[in-house]
Amino acid sequence: MTRAGPTEPTRRDAMPAGRHFLQIPGPTNVPDRVLRAVDRPTIDHRGPEFQALGEDVLAGIRRIFRTRHPVVIYPASGTGAWEAALVNVLSPGDKVLMYESGHFAALWRKLAGRLGLEVELIPGDWRRGAEAPAIHDRLAADKGHAIKAVCVVHNETSTGATTRVPLVRKAIDDARHPALLLVDTISSLASIDYRHDEWGVDVTVGGSQKGLMLPPGLSFNALSDKALEAQKSARLPRSYWDWGEMLAPNAKGFFPYTPATNLLYGLREAIAMLEEEGLANVFARHDRHAEATRRAAAAWGLEVLCAVPEEYSSSLTALVMPAGHDADRLRDAILDRFDMSLGMGLGRLAGKVFRIGHLGDFNDLTLMGTLAGVEMGLAIAGVPHRKGGAQAAMDYLASCALPASGAARAA
Ligand code: PLP
Repeated sequence: MTRAGPTEPTRRDAMPAGRHFLQIPGPTNVPDRVLRAVDRPTIDHRGPEFQALGEDVLAGIRRIFRTRHPVVIYPASGTGAWEAALVNVLSPGDKVLMYESGHFAALWRKLAGRLGLEVELIPGDWRRGAEAPAIHDRLAADKGHAIKAVCVVHNETSTGATTRVPLVRKAIDDARHPALLLVDTISSLASIDYRHDEWGVDVTVGGSQKGLMLPPGLSFNALSDKALEAQKSARLPRSYWDWGEMLAPNAKGFFPYTPATNLLYGLREAIAMLEEEGLANVFARHDRHAEATRRAAAAWGLEVLCAVPEEYSSSLTALVMPAGHDADRLRDAILDRFDMSLGMGLGRLAGKVFRIGHLGDFNDLTLMGTLAGVEMGLAIAGVPHRKGGAQAAMDYLASCALPASGAARAA
């Protein structure tokens, strides 16, 4: 990519007024409250002021994961937390069962292979979440318990399909199999209902840049007692990612190495915002915007990629392009004309789908701006569609109000 030099015009020169619409499924728009919280002097990370911040965020993030167990916070992108989840509980050559729900499941698999794990992948069609019956059957056949972990992606950001994690838990239990359950919740945490303890997950992987409304740069591992036990005998090499190194200083609000202090200020603010709204309201808001988006798609005559209605994602919707039309041409037209970024098709979906992110700091009018931009873009790019998608979404939003903030606070 060539960078614009000092004399070359940039997109912002051509379109100086109004905010860019960042409607990819993460990183998401960072609210002003979080931006202001981050914009503070960095402090001594070994001093008492930091300790109070550390204690706040380490306690608060547990409430977001719905866990009483420790949550490790890494100054890393989500990929780091993927690696951390594996290296803390597994040994070289261990067998891991994964389900190919889409591009991110495929990337996690690749990472696991590079670490020296033996990955068995249940193939998927990239239009649904991980299928619990297939996981059950594979585990039931594993009489010798060679499989040490099952890894699934809760919300496949490449497809807009979710995995029903309680069904996967039940599949493991019904097969009477001792495998650990590892779940990626990078694009669902704080957007779609998720319960680490209640659903019996051993390691949950999260990231800062989506539902948490923070800039990229933090990621998480939520743990279970079983995961902590597995860590004692796990032999994959680990140093930076070692939970033990983290948990000792975390007990007093500190970190073993220099933490991302300013992102932690942002995290404290983001947790406060989510709790002021109430997690149940946050999830209902995302459900409602996802439903409005699907109504727009139906009116346009565009197909939702996710084939299983119970697994529709509430944080993003991937729409299939009509045959012979390139999703990237449409996205380029929308970026050029309306300064709005939409998610591209990833991996085998390149050019075939575009993804509308409707997660994070997002309200009815953000959605309407987004859908109006898509509808105008479809016309400009010559993509066959019917008019009236934005109207269908407006009709739906006007017909059902959200509960007042805080009215249905999550436990
Ligand atoms: N898992 C999922 C579901 C994702 O959506 C992403 C990124 O979008 C990742 C993992 C990788 O995270 P990162 O890009 O922060 O390393």
